[in-house]
Amino acid sequence: MNNSIRLKSRPEGIPTLENFEFVEVDKPKASEGQVLLKTKYVSVDPYLRGRMRDEKSYITPFELDKPLQSGIIAEVVESHISDFKKGDFVNGMLEWKQFQTSNGKGLQKVDSSKAPLSAYLGVLGLTGITAYVGLLKIGEPKEGETVLVSGASGAVGSVVGQLAKIKGCKVVGIAGSDEKIKLLQNTFGFDAGINYKTTNQMRKAIKETCPNGVDVYFDNVGGEILDAAMANMNRFGRVVNCGAISLYNETEQPTGPRLETSLVKKSLKMQGFIARDYQDEFKEIVPQLATWLNDNKLTYEETIVEGFENIPRAFIDLFEGKNKGKMVVKV
Ligand code: NDP
Repeated sequence: MNNSIRLKSRPEGIPTLENFEFVEVDKPKASEGQVLLKTKYVSVDPYLRGRMRDEKSYITPFELDKPLQSGIIAEVVESHISDFKKGDFVNGMLEWKQFQTSNGKGLQKVDSSKAPLSAYLGVLGLTGITAYVGLLKIGEPKEGETVLVSGASGAVGSVVGQLAKIKGCKVVGIAGSDEKIKLLQNTFGFDAGINYKTTNQMRKAIKETCPNGVDVYFDNVGGEILDAAMANMNRFGRVVNCGAISLYNETEQPTGPRLETSLVKKSLKMQGFIARDYQDEFKEIVPQLATWLNDNKLTYEETIVEGFENIPRAFIDLFEGKNKGKMVVKV
């Protein structure tokens, strides 16, 4: 048995299960120069929604009737490449299939004795690296400053808040339930939180929780929450545009207040980024994250969904905020 999941149709608005198709394919054999991989953990990520649109972007769109892809931890079950042996675990951008072959390009070995395998898709993987790059290289928080983070209880946001605490900042998180706000404060050490679903005056809520204004705003959601954060930025503040999940399912992009006057008046820096563009630095970033993890300066949360057949559901659930920390599917 070898199941694969394909993109059957391009979602309009919020993706549904009908956009996905399960197709049974032959279990491949590894030939010379190849490894046979068995999927163990699959990362589902908001950015995959962008790849489902037929639009030019920093990454190629998914093709219809072809398997979807994401970050996957797989076990090497057969190897004809000297760098990999049977029983190794690898991390790579792989297809949503139970078994697949690879020529080894782009695969990194991961050590299951140093951290649980799923952590290499989260805190020690792309989302941890994204938090590091966005906050430390672009946001450049200084001790005593106030850092505001949206999407705060998710994979990227929860790490951003903890890194800001390591840097000696006051940290406020925005998330979608009171339970998540408790998690921010009790588990991740945030100073305060705002439940955006029960607050209809975001500007005021940010002003009250950030009485000294906001020096760094790490934006995972865009839209009206970004507008409210902009109104509370201090002079020389930095706005880090990591993602805009509130807009990913919009069929027509909403417009908001124009930003140029506040950018000028407050001398703000606003910068987007793609973590993969910092690939050359991953080899320094990941050990640093691992050190903080070992020193208990960093912790992480995962929502682990079981079963290959539940990958599409887990992906859709990201847009309903069903995850705390990194959403991962265990196969
Ligand atoms: P998360 O683990 O944060 O999961 C998504 C979360 O977004 C949900 O749990 C939900 O939490 C929140 N959310 C969903 N819909 C909305 C909405 N309409 N408005 C506000 N919040 C919403 O995902 P990631 O940590 O993987 O990704 C976070 C962001 O970072 C995304 O925008 C993603 O695209 C971006 N990203 C960017 C990268 C880069 O290189 N620039 C790399 C990786 C991710 P809640 O209950 O709080 O609503």
